[in-house]
Amino acid sequence: MRWYVVLADAFGRIATDLRVSVTDRCNLRCSYCMPPEGLDWLPGPALLTDDEVSRLVSVAVQRLGVTEVRFTGGEPLLRRGLPGLVAAAAALDPRPEISITTNGIGLARLAGPLAAAGLDRLNVSLDTLSPQTFKELARRDRLSDVLAGLAAASEAGLTPVKVNAVLMRGINDHEAAGLLRFCLDRGYQLRFIEQMPLDAQHGWRRANMVTADEILARLSPAFSLTPDDPGARGSAPAEAFLVDGGPDRVGVIGSVTRPFCGTCDRVRLTADGQVRNCLFAADETDLRALLRAGATDDQLAAAWRGAVAGKLPGHGINDPGFLQPGRPMSAIGG
Ligand code: SAM
Repeated sequence: MRWYVVLADAFGRIATDLRVSVTDRCNLRCSYCMPPEGLDWLPGPALLTDDEVSRLVSVAVQRLGVTEVRFTGGEPLLRRGLPGLVAAAAALDPRPEISITTNGIGLARLAGPLAAAGLDRLNVSLDTLSPQTFKELARRDRLSDVLAGLAAASEAGLTPVKVNAVLMRGINDHEAAGLLRFCLDRGYQLRFIEQMPLDAQHGWRRANMVTADEILARLSPAFSLTPDDPGARGSAPAEAFLVDGGPDRVGVIGSVTRPFCGTCDRVRLTADGQVRNCLFAADETDLRALLRAGATDDQLAAAWRGAVAGKLPGHGINDPGFLQPGRPMSAIGG
């Protein structure tokens, strides 16, 4: 029998779901994430190498009880070594569940190789079905690439394909029902995410955010929605609703108005090797410096446990003195 030390915090939560950002770069410029001109990307030497990422993933899985590894970014498909990172994670014993969150651009080419490397699942971000709205929201004319990527993911057996959508008032909030119909027709599982204050340009305004209640109201004229068994939710961020009696479902992630921090089981590793115990954490723990100074796996594991032990009970977005984290979503890894 194996014996693990786990990533526990002071509030009884255990982090088993690791989100690894493999690059802060992106080929889209979604307005809820970054400004049109992009950001000052991390310089190459600051990024963990493929071997460094795989070493830290192995410490998390083999010493700290992590059971799920999700590669994200930035746009993870921009990282050339991604299939190798997936293969290295898939070779671990115990083998974690391996997924990616992607904007889908490049997936038409990469879905097959990633599945062959051991990828189990993926989430593709799709906020609109209108090429014009896509161009406005993501500031690039790439909708057809995303749709091709989604189809390729299904063909490669990366099912059920999950789709993430963020609704923005006056831009794509009228598309809620259309997005759901599109996903139902293709067997994709749609989840709407409330916009969070994580954009680099600090443009988020509570009054402008499309709330979970509004998302449900937008869907209800077209679909009958009934809450799924709450016992089945576990630590999943999405509240699931049966569509027209089921078995199809739609998810709503009310990160701001319906926070789920009490059951959070996530921990994040940034592309430059910093552990963040929350998307909204003010502090990070520098594993890259330890790694490059020759730390042993035990030393890395101890530092990682210390980072998670200090996790706060909630993300604080609704607290009066809330301050947006210094790092934008693209650098932290969504
Ligand atoms: N580039 C990949 C993608 O587009 O899926 C992975 C990184 S992206 C930061 C991960 C997810 O975070 C996407 O579904 C995106 O829509 C979501 N996201 C980005 N900024 C957000 C924000 N301010 N609020 C809510 N979700 C956001």
